[in-house]
Amino acid sequence: MMNRRKLIGTLGAASLAGLWPLACRAATPRRVIVVGAGMAGATAAKYLRLWSDRGIDVTLVEPAAQYTSNIMSNLVVTGQYPPSILSQGYTSLSRKYGITLLQGSVTAVEPGGELGAWKVTVRNGQKTVTRWCERVVLAPGIQFDPVPSTADPAVAAPILHAWQAGAQTTQLRDALARMPATGTFVMSIPKAPYRCPPGPYERACVVADYLRRNKPGAQLVVLDANPDIMAEKENFSRAFQQLYGSNLSYRPNHVVRSVAATAGQAGGTVTVDIVVRDAAGAETVTGSETFSAQVLNVIPPHRAGAIVHTLGLADATGFAPVDGRSFESTVPGRAGIHVIGDASKTTLPKAGHVGNQGAKICADAIVRAFSAQPPVPAPTANSACFSPVSNQLASWLTAVYQYRQDPATGAWRYVALDQVTGATGATEAQVPSTRQFSMMRTWYGTLMSDSFA
Ligand SMILES: Cc1cc2nc3c(=O)[nH]c(=O)nc-3n(C[C@H](O)[C@H](O)[C@H](O)COP(=O)(O)OP(=O)(O)OC[C@H]3O[C@@H](n4cnc5c(N)ncnc54)[C@H](O)[C@@H]3O)c2cc1C
Repeated sequence: MMNRRKLIGTLGAASLAGLWPLACRAATPRRVIVVGAGMAGATAAKYLRLWSDRGIDVTLVEPAAQYTSNIMSNLVVTGQYPPSILSQGYTSLSRKYGITLLQGSVTAVEPGGELGAWKVTVRNGQKTVTRWCERVVLAPGIQFDPVPSTADPAVAAPILHAWQAGAQTTQLRDALARMPATGTFVMSIPKAPYRCPPGPYERACVVADYLRRNKPGAQLVVLDANPDIMAEKENFSRAFQQLYGSNLSYRPNHVVRSVAATAGQAGGTVTVDIVVRDAAGAETVTGSETFSAQVLNVIPPHRAGAIVHTLGLADATGFAPVDGRSFESTVPGRAGIHVIGDASKTTLPKAGHVGNQGAKICADAIVRAFSAQPPVPAPTANSACFSPVSNQLASWLTAVYQYRQDPATGAWRYVALDQVTGATGATEAQVPSTRQFSMMRTWYGTLMSDSFA
């Protein structure tokens, strides 16, 4: 066994605090509680069991009876696919891998009486249970900031984001279908970092395509708080100009200031600040504009799921800083708690495939930690993402990320590497195609199986 001084040098004090009891007690239980069975949490639970040869006792806590995928949900909004395409069950995780499923929401994680253990409180309705574990993996996804509203919330209709798939996905689908033939659909994109960098532009494309085919007199206005298209710029710019030049108006640097929804309807008005940014990114408001919509789709800024904030794991960005080798929290006193998926703060994009990859890096680090081994020093992750730009065409974006030290600042962060040239950056399809549209279904099935089956 590695001696303690060497272990301190290798792992640093924060990680050691979580490992010390484990390294020193021969028959230490190896229990992990994973909080949230979405893309990241389900993957972490599965690979903890696989890579420990079922030696780690894994409990997966989730309030929902099944997962509803965000991936592919834009094509449910346009009615092309039924909502059932988004559903993923949890049965395989328990039957095939022996993961204990616990339905409920985690409300607290506290250091406990058992040396090195965490006490996790789970609430399901009126019932509260507690469980103990050596390691906690938080994968709660995101929560949304309130939409600044000028209307009385008691009478205003809910403003749909449909950025957490579920009831809002079909509500937005129905609102789109009911929209008058010459109506206006207004959607807004929050400032980065937000969930799924290409996702809003993908939604803009498939909604514009739907309108072109079903309501040729209707318009789509895209209000982007960012200065430009944030992912797959070549393909989305081309689609905006060439496919949807007549019914889509893209407005960068438009930051939502307030929204007034029309009671009982999906429409209303949205007022934006129009901003310019200097080289350092500082914003100056140069004007404002109000848009009327028959369908409003405001995607608010978001931050890590509530439990991350309850436990004091988030910084001023709203997300949880972590050590990229293990996704263990870097907040003092929280060694042994890992944060993965969209809730974590890294330079990785917030995406399902990336959440799946980060979960594996985390699972590997935990398996090693239980054997008093340090995490892999420079892990890599890869991500592929297919984006429909119409009901028949899709493009893709792919990237390989490596955890690297910045020679200038000394800071460690994930950097996207171009596989061929070694240049940094992500790669996108040359042009959207129908073949890529059909490959998208294969990619989706494979990714979901890797996480849930
Ligand atoms: C429209 C849209 C399209 C997208 N398309 C793509 C795509 O093509 N490719 C891609 O890679 N990504 C895509 N994404 C992004 C992807 O869906 C997210 O990045 C991914 O779901 C994040 O995974 P997660 O596990 O962090 O969070 P989630 O998948 O949201 O899972 C979080 C889970 O935690 C549970 N939870 C929360 N709090 C608690 C608690 N206290 N206790 C217990 N459980 C809790 C929730 O119920 C939920 O099941 C898309 C997103 C959107 C909105």
